[in-house]
Amino acid sequence: MRALTELTDAELAAAVQHHGGQPFQGRQVSHWVWKHGVTDFAAMRNVPARLRQDLATAFTVRSTQVAKRDLADDGTQKLLLALADGETIECVLIPDGDRTTLCVSTQVGCPVACVFCASGLFGVRRNLTAGEIAEQVLVARAELPADRSITNLVVMGMGEPMLNLDALLPALQRIHAADGIGMGARRITVSTSGYPRQMERFAAADPSYNLAVSLHAADDTLRKQLVPTASTPVREIVAAAHRYFGQKGREVTYEVVLLEGRNDRPQDAEAMVETLGALPCTVNLIPWNPVEEIAAQRGLRRPGTARVDAFAELLRSGGLKVTVRRQRGADRSAACGQLRLRTQTSA
Ligand code: SAH
Ligand code: SF4
Repeated sequence: MRALTELTDAELAAAVQHHGGQPFQGRQVSHWVWKHGVTDFAAMRNVPARLRQDLATAFTVRSTQVAKRDLADDGTQKLLLALADGETIECVLIPDGDRTTLCVSTQVGCPVACVFCASGLFGVRRNLTAGEIAEQVLVARAELPADRSITNLVVMGMGEPMLNLDALLPALQRIHAADGIGMGARRITVSTSGYPRQMERFAAADPSYNLAVSLHAADDTLRKQLVPTASTPVREIVAAAHRYFGQKGREVTYEVVLLEGRNDRPQDAEAMVETLGALPCTVNLIPWNPVEEIAAQRGLRRPGTARVDAFAELLRSGGLKVTVRRQRGADRSAACGQLRLRTQTSA
């Protein structure tokens, strides 16, 4: 059975009419699904019982369920969601002062296979649907205490968002729309490992979301070692990011996952200054969150604070704006794709 979360407004209106309802009742149902986050037709109080019962014979409200909850000492909460076909994905709630950021997935696994990332270890199994992407916000929202709400959304979970734009764009529309979940576009950031053609398509979307580009290295040979499937030269990725800035007026953030001795050397910082130095952007340094299975096999290490600070200083002295990401939820497999990996390898 299809879930209501998969339907566009027009499809929902048609389904309601098909079951004898009026178009305005489609909007009421939609309100229950996206605003109130109900999981059951019985809770849709202003919808006639007959219509609710008929809809329930053809649809479920949602398609995903929480399969596992994992709460770290710092409040980071990781959710493993079971999809209707038995696949699993992750989303992560990260409270920080008044803010609560939700990180959502776009694919089951990831085809990009970055050497340091748990999500790409076994390739991609399938794309998520628009409903499965947007539902993560509904499911995660219901986990929060009454005095907290999701203030920011980052599309930085499992998967490469630019390789699933057909589902991501309608999902973001639903998350952003005033009659959907109603989250401001400025609070939504999509992260990509760099696909210029798809970034153009993303740039054409209305409204303007924030874009983050996972660069990791400015040198093509080194980047190819870290992102083995990358076939686009760094300068083309940076040019596409800069066009995004030109079109949207939003500065792009470059993400750099730092691995000791691999891409955190002085010459790596210098190459980055040379490539990005003159551009309006921020570089976000992310000391690698170790994935046990990968660390041992591939000899990767998270650099110590001194190395990270030295790298940041070189970028700053080259004129770049730099932020350094604190490690969150590290005690419980907080890095991207790790909870799913744990569950799979222990199954
Ligand atoms: N596929 C997209 C979005 C998901 S990954 C992308 O790569 O941008 C989101 C961010 O998490 C990326 O910057 C990625 O490099 C980073 N990441 C993945 N695994 C990590 C790990 N183990 N430690 C730290 N950052 C990681
Ligand atoms: Fe995919 Fe992003 Fe992980 Fe690379 S870092 S494998 S692109 S999810």
